[in-house]
Amino acid sequence: MKIEKPRIWLSPPHMSGLEARYIQDAFDSNWISSVGPNITEFELEVQELTGAEHAVALSSGTAAIHLGLRLHDVGAGDDVLSPSFTFCGSVNPIIYQGATPIFIDSERLSWNLDPNIVEGELMRRSRLGIAQPKAMIVVHIYGQSADMHALSQISAKYGVPIVEDAAEALGAFHGDSMLGTIADIGAYSFNGNKVITTSGGGMLVTSNSAFAERAKKLATQAREPAPHYEHVEIGYNYRMSNILAGIGRGQLKVLDDRVSRRRDIFQAYKARLESVPGLDFTPDAAWGRHSHWLSCLLINPTESNVKPSELITALSEENIEARMLWKPMHQQPVFKGSTVLGGGVAEDLFERGVCLPSGSNLEESDLERICFSIRRAMQVKNETKN
Ligand SMILES: *Cc1c(COP(=O)(O)O)cnc(C)c1O
Repeated sequence: MKIEKPRIWLSPPHMSGLEARYIQDAFDSNWISSVGPNITEFELEVQELTGAEHAVALSSGTAAIHLGLRLHDVGAGDDVLSPSFTFCGSVNPIIYQGATPIFIDSERLSWNLDPNIVEGELMRRSRLGIAQPKAMIVVHIYGQSADMHALSQISAKYGVPIVEDAAEALGAFHGDSMLGTIADIGAYSFNGNKVITTSGGGMLVTSNSAFAERAKKLATQAREPAPHYEHVEIGYNYRMSNILAGIGRGQLKVLDDRVSRRRDIFQAYKARLESVPGLDFTPDAAWGRHSHWLSCLLINPTESNVKPSELITALSEENIEARMLWKPMHQQPVFKGSTVLGGGVAEDLFERGVCLPSGSNLEESDLERICFSIRRAMQVKNETKN
C-alpha cells in the first residue's frame, strides 16, 4: 500500500494566531455584522500601511473592482480595457455593468497590460473619432507591478481612468508606491489563497474622499441618509463583516513576514531549479518590487518536451498541488467573440507556465520534496526524448 505524503497546497491560509483575539472582541461586544470597531480599525490600518487616504472594507476583491467601475460611471455601451492574462474576477464586473471588455495582451517584462498596445488603441480611437474606453483595468499579476509609469501617462493623456487590481499584490511596490495606491482607485482581495486573508473579503482604496463616501453608500444598498429606507439608485450588499475584519487585523500584523517569506520561496525555487534544462522563472521588472504571491515557472519547449499539464500531474501524484497559469480571458468560452488586441503573449504564458506551491507556511522539507519531484519529472521525460 502506498503511504500518502501530506498534501502540499498551492497557497493556503496562514494564520498568525492574533486573529482569534479580534474575533473574540467582536463576539464580546456583540458587533457581529457589517458595522463595528474591527472594520473601522482594519480600514485605518490598511490606510496606514499603504498610504492610501481612504479604505473601504468589502465582501470581496471582485466587489471592490465592481465599485471601482461604478465610481467611474461605467455603464451599458461603454468599453473597458482589461488585460486578457488575468483571473475572471478582474473582468466580470465589466459585464455586471453591461459594458464591453476589450482584452489587451501582456508585455514580457512583467506579464501585465502592454502599454504599447493600450496607447496604439487609444490613438486609433482618437484619430477616427471613436469614443474612448470609459476605464482601464490594470492588474498586477502574481504580485508584480504593471508598467505603471507608462500606463499612468497614457491614462492622463487620453482621459481614461485606471482601476488598479492589486488583488494579488498587497505588499508589492512600483518605485516607492504600494501597488493599489497609484491610480485613483485600487482593489485588494483577502480571499483564502491570497497573501493574507479574511477567509473572503476585499478592500477598495482611493485618494478621493467623494469616491470613498460613495463606495460605502453603494456597498450598503445605496441607502440615502433618511430616517426610513430611501433609495434613489441601485446599490449592493458588499460590506465586510466585523468578524472577518477581525481576521484581517490579525493578518495585517504579519503581512511583512508573509511577503518576505513568499519572496524567499521564489528565490529558493530559482536557486534549486535554475540548472534544470528548460525551466525559466517569472521575470523581475526593474520598476517594481514583487510580492511573489505565486512562484511561477515557464517550460522552454526548445529545451524540454515536458508539458505543464504533465508536470502538474507528476506533482499531483506526489500529493503536491500546482496549477497552470491563468487561461487568457479571450480564450474563455464565456468571452467568445470578444475583441482582443494581440494575445500571443498571454497564450504563450498559458501554454508554458506552471504555478508552484507558494504559501508562506511552506516548510523547508516541503520545498525539498517539491524540487525533488520537479527535477525527477523534468528528467524522466527529457531522457525518454533522447
Ligand atoms: C483574487 C483575484 C480577484 C478577485 O478577488 P476575490 O476576493 O476573490 O473576489 C480579482 N483579480 C485578481 C487578479 C485576483 O487574483
